[in-house]
Amino acid sequence: MLSNEIEKKLNEQVNAEFDAAYLYLSMSAWLDKQGLSGFANWFKMQAQEETTHAMKIYDYISERGGEISLLPIGKPKDNWKGCLDVVEDAYNHEKKVTAMINDIVALAELNKDYATRVFFDWFVTEQVEEESSSLDLVDKVKFVGEHKGYLLSLDKELLVRQ
Ligand code: MG
Repeated sequence: MLSNEIEKKLNEQVNAEFDAAYLYLSMSAWLDKQGLSGFANWFKMQAQEETTHAMKIYDYISERGGEISLLPIGKPKDNWKGCLDVVEDAYNHEKKVTAMINDIVALAELNKDYATRVFFDWFVTEQVEEESSSLDLVDKVKFVGEHKGYLLSLDKELLVRQ
């Protein structure tokens, strides 16, 4: 059985994951409009991944006999100064998600809810990857700088993510 406090945190995390999916989808739409279909593809895939994260936690709440309480998702940001602005936003967003995951882990430990603690190991590991892949994009876009040709070849590279 989940404690009320942990149940509340988990429902908030479901919301945060859907919120991230929404943000990445908005980024995808904006990038597509700029003609960067590879970047758009990368963020669309990322949005799908966030949805699977949300559903993993959703199923876990249910499995533990908790109550699902879906919270509202706000309108995501839909305008950026450029490609670098988008990828930096994504990296900063992942750092925020990591902090939320860490809070859940700390709370689970404090409450001796070891099932939740162990369940969230997967998310701790996943966040290392999420931060690393978004930081990698920031570094690449910074490296490319103002070179439109390089940006297009990077864009082509990102088109292959399935
Ligand atoms: Mg996530």
